[in-house]
Amino acid sequence: MQILVTGGAGFIGGHLAQQFAADSHDVIVLDNRDPFYDLDIKQHNVEAGQAAARNSDGSYEFIEGDVRDAELVTDLVADADYVYHQAAQAGVRPSVKNPRKYDEVNVDGTLNLLDACRDEGIERFVMASSSSVYGKPQYLPYDEQHPTTPVSPYGASKLAAERYACAYSEVYDLPAVALRYFTVYGPRMRPNMAISNFVSRCHNGEPPVIYGDGTQTRDFTYIEDIIDANMTLLHEDAADGMAVNIGSTDNIEIKTLATEIRDQIDPDLDLVYEERHDADAEHTHAATERAEELLGYDPDHTIREGVAKFIDWYRDNRDWYEPLVRQS
Ligand code: NAD
Repeated sequence: MQILVTGGAGFIGGHLAQQFAADSHDVIVLDNRDPFYDLDIKQHNVEAGQAAARNSDGSYEFIEGDVRDAELVTDLVADADYVYHQAAQAGVRPSVKNPRKYDEVNVDGTLNLLDACRDEGIERFVMASSSSVYGKPQYLPYDEQHPTTPVSPYGASKLAAERYACAYSEVYDLPAVALRYFTVYGPRMRPNMAISNFVSRCHNGEPPVIYGDGTQTRDFTYIEDIIDANMTLLHEDAADGMAVNIGSTDNIEIKTLATEIRDQIDPDLDLVYEERHDADAEHTHAATERAEELLGYDPDHTIREGVAKFIDWYRDNRDWYEPLVRQS
């Protein structure tokens, strides 16, 4: 099976490509190595995929290129059986400064892939969407029927992209699924996220910094549970044409998370509070009944278990990873 993973040098795409290669698939990664965060992490992601292919009957090829390049995308999709589209301009706060780039990459880039997938008749197009499509909660947990009123350009761009995917499924019979991820964490995670920052600061004897009063809540989702959900879509067609929440359901307040991490690393530290950013969602919480019913989704990791695994990984990889978190 040949699988095209866009954004495969990134955090989630990197784990996906690694797993596909380990499972003896032929993986093509398309990624433009966007300098949104340090490229050393992306290099580690690529190397993990290459190592997985060496230890299996699979293969791994890295193509440096842009999803906005329609010709390149068309060529790559022509050889693929499946497309897992993870490439995106990520990040809620930076999207407020540069909304047009989010539109060009996240919407136009997705349309390039969808056009190519429709023309080639691939097995399935699976795209990374986000809990950011929901915006201010009218009720929690969000189910997929919850109104979608994103409060950031990032959320708006992810919503537009997933609506196109579902429309292509309807109009052109393209098997397409959008997985709405809820804050993902784990080894090699983006360095500029709350969990990597809390862990890094605590390891350096510095109090974790919380933006706002810390009563914001999240369903932090461990990367292995995200990968499992994606793997199911290699053989499951029940979610075609739909958006599906993929979250941990182990909802936690940010200050409780910070306390948990602090207690696991350095219980003597205080917590520090700074001003909250308006574009950040106050609460996200996933209803996962649709994922359970259609994909057999059953996340394995509570936040405590996932954080403990991440801290173990962090300690083993501190020499190269920590400086990248510190400078982010
Ligand atoms: P990431 O930034 O680590 O990975 C995205 C990758 O896409 C990067 O390697 C980047 O170089 C690549 N990329 C960016 N623009 C590109 C372009 N124009 N052409 C080709 N490649 C390009 O982010 P991530 O956390 O791994 O997120 C993966 C996907 O999951 C994204 O679509 C993101 O919106 C979505 N998502 C992530 C989270 C999370 O918590 N990490 C939550 C919800 C949704």
